Amino acid sequence: MNKEHIFIIEDETDIRDVVEYNLSREGYSVDSFSDGEAGLLAIQKQTPDLVLLDLMLPGLDGIEICRQLKQHHKTSSIPIIMITAKSEESDVVLGLGMGADDYVSKPFSPRELVARVGAVLRRPQPKGEGTNPDRIERHGLVIDSQRHEVLLEDKLISLTATEFKLLQFLASHPGRVFDRDHLLSRVLGEDVVVLERNIDVHVRSIRKKLDHPDDLIETVRGVGYRFKY
Ligand code: CA
Repeated sequence: MNKEHIFIIEDETDIRDVVEYNLSREGYSVDSFSDGEAGLLAIQKQTPDLVLLDLMLPGLDGIEICRQLKQHHKTSSIPIIMITAKSEESDVVLGLGMGADDYVSKPFSPRELVARVGAVLRRPQPKGEGTNPDRIERHGLVIDSQRHEVLLEDKLISLTATEFKLLQFLASHPGRVFDRDHLLSRVLGEDVVVLERNIDVHVRSIRKKLDHPDDLIETVRGVGYRFKY
């Protein structure tokens, strides 16, 4: 039985009810809020394990709530899954750039939502941006930072310094989507030369070198990339 405490901030009663019903059935305890101010106030009083956050809310919108939560030390590590409409793709990019963990687009199936919630809660707590674990092992891939080596099924893969950084960052945040701007500015840094500023080219090259049947780096259309496993 799960005991995690989830807050949902959503102004549409139907969606709120469906989400609440399905998550409760999975054993989560759920509190619902129909507007941003009430939700934010509640989070500041009692830290939930995860927040499901609608983007279009009356008053304080989802992006603003996300910004405020990520700004404060006490609330910055609470995982956030955004609930969005198809037309809000640019807001998704903004939210992910601010540190939201994932998003679901309306209409979504309850099953999909429950799976996403479970996946985000099971993720290892991020050690913060820019931390480079010494060794990452995932799905047959080994990234050894000290040796600056990448092995796939024990085979040595030769990557450029930029490709190495990118793969290491994505693999150390499995399942989390990052947009291109984030990868460029926060991962590769401002010092990369102009020629290297095309994330898509680097990802394509990494994929080609890994030549993995399961395509470890997934393209999230309209948003960016995520490490799948
Ligand atoms: Ca709404």
